[in-house]
Amino acid sequence: PRITVGLATCGAAVGGTAIYERLRESIQKRNPDLSLVPTGCIGYCREEPIVTVAHPGKPLVLLNRVSVKDCDDILNAVLSGTVPHDKALCRIEEWDHLMGHNITYGRGFDEIPLYDEIPFFGQQKKVILRDAGIINPEDIDEFLAVGGYSAAYNALRNMEPDTVLEEVEKSGLRGRGGAGFPAGLKWRITKEKKSDKKYIICNADEGDPGAYMNRNEMESDPHMLIEGMILGAYAIGTDEGLIYIRAEYPLAIRRLKHAIAEARELGILGENIFGTDFSFDIQIATGAGAFVCGESTALVASIEGRTGRPHPRPPRLTDSGLWGKPTDLNNVETWCNVPVIIKNGSEWYRNIGAEKNSGTKVFSLVGDVEKVGLVEVPLGTTLKRIVFDIGNGGADGKAVKAVQTGGPSGGCIPLRLFDTTVDFESLNAIGSIMGSGGIVVMDEDTNMVDIARYFISFATGESCGKCIPCREGLKHTLILLNRILAGKGTAEDLDTLKSLSETIAATSLCGLGQTAPNPVLTTLEYFRGEYDSLVKL
Ligand code: SF4
Repeated sequence: PRITVGLATCGAAVGGTAIYERLRESIQKRNPDLSLVPTGCIGYCREEPIVTVAHPGKPLVLLNRVSVKDCDDILNAVLSGTVPHDKALCRIEEWDHLMGHNITYGRGFDEIPLYDEIPFFGQQKKVILRDAGIINPEDIDEFLAVGGYSAAYNALRNMEPDTVLEEVEKSGLRGRGGAGFPAGLKWRITKEKKSDKKYIICNADEGDPGAYMNRNEMESDPHMLIEGMILGAYAIGTDEGLIYIRAEYPLAIRRLKHAIAEARELGILGENIFGTDFSFDIQIATGAGAFVCGESTALVASIEGRTGRPHPRPPRLTDSGLWGKPTDLNNVETWCNVPVIIKNGSEWYRNIGAEKNSGTKVFSLVGDVEKVGLVEVPLGTTLKRIVFDIGNGGADGKAVKAVQTGGPSGGCIPLRLFDTTVDFESLNAIGSIMGSGGIVVMDEDTNMVDIARYFISFATGESCGKCIPCREGLKHTLILLNRILAGKGTAEDLDTLKSLSETIAATSLCGLGQTAPNPVLTTLEYFRGEYDSLVKL
C-alpha cells in the first residue's frame, strides 16, 4: 500500500507536515510493508490537508481535511486492506502505473464518488497539473513512471531540432506569463540569431497577489519544467539555461535543486544527454522579491547582479539578453506545456482550447469563492464556468460581484460580463488581461474603490521609480483614491483619476506602469456608481 501527504506550501501551511511526521513515526513503530510518500498539491487547496491512500490494484482514494488525530484510523484502515471511508472525498481509478500494477476495479469502493464526479475536478481538464499531488516531486523514478522525460528522450534521439521547433510553432502555444506572445516564434527568433552563445531562461518570478500557479507547478512536478527546458534548449541550440525564481519560494527552490541533481545523476542534464552529443545544464538564480523583476529586461539585469530595473526595448532579449547574448525567456507554465506537445503532437494540442488560444491555462481561483484552489481549464472557458461550476460561487453563500484577472495589472470584471471567455483577446477587449493566471473573486460586500486602492498601493510600492509617469503618477492616483474613500473627493477628482490613469498607461516605460492603472480604469467603467456615492457631486 501507499499513503501520500500533500506537502506543497498550501498543504504544509494547514498541518500537512505534522500529519506526515505522525504517520512516519507510526509506520516506523509498526514496521509494515507500506510506503509513505510526500507529494505536491492536487489543486483543491480548500480541502487540504489532503492524504491519498491506495492498495495495489485498487483505486487511489483522496481523503480531505485530514488532521493528526485521523492518522491512526487511516493507518489501521490501510493495514487492514481498506480505506477510511468516512474521510474519503473521491477515488481515482487509473493511477497505479506508479506501483507497477494493472488497475482492477476495487470492490467496496463504489460508494466513494469518482474523481470526475466532484465538480471541482470534473469540470477541469488537467494537462499541466495531471500528476500534481499524485507523484512524489522528490523522486525522479515516479516522474519516469508516469512517462516523464519520454518526450525529451524521443526528441533528442529521433527528431531534428528544427522538427521540435516546428511542432511547438504548429501547436500555437502562446506565452503563459501574460503577454501571450507565440512561444515558437520567440524560439525561432533566438535560434536564427548568429552568436557563439545563447541562453534560455525560465521566469519563475511569480509575484501577483493571489497567484501561485507557478509555485505549485514547481513544488509538485519540477521535472516537468526541466523537461520542457531541455526540449527548448535542443530546439534553439543552447547548452545553458537558468531558472530565475523568487527567494520567497523556498520549497520550490529546494525541490528544483533536488530535481536538477537527480536529472544530472541519470545523465538527463549535463554532457551528452541520453547518450547523444547534445549537452545542456540548468542553474538557479534567486530574486529578492521585487515585483518588477518579472519584467524581462529587469530580470536579466537582476541575474547579472545589476539593479533590477527595466530598460527600453529594443534591444529585445532575443537580440541582446543575458550577458549581451541572444536569450529566450519563457515562464514556468510555458515551458511545462512543451513536453506534452512533443509527446502528443501539435495537432492534439491544437484541439484543446480555442481559436488562436490553444491548450489549457492554470488559474489560481482565490478570494471570496467557495472552492479555492488551482484550476486548469481549456483556454476559451467562460468566467462563469470557472467561478460557479468549478468554484461553486461565493463563499458563505454570498453573491459574487466581480472578479479580477491578471493580478495587480488586471481589470475588475463585473458579474454581467461573466460570459466572457478566458483567452488573451477576450479579456483585453473588456479592459483586463490574462496575466499569469490569478483570478480573485469579490463578493457583494466588496467596496470596488477600495479594491482599486489596494492594487494601486501595491503597484506604487513595487514601482522601480525609473520613469516619472509610473513613479509620480501612481503616487497621485493613490492620493486621489484615499481622498475619495475618506469622503473628501469631488466629481473633478474622478475626471482627474481617469485622465491620470490613461496617461500613466500610455506613457510608462514598462508593463508594470502601463498596466497598473487597469484596476482603476475598469472599476471606474463598471462600478462608477460606487465612486459617485463617495464624492460630492
Ligand atoms: Fe519602473 Fe514603473 Fe517605469 Fe516600469 S513603468 S520602468 S516599474 S517606474
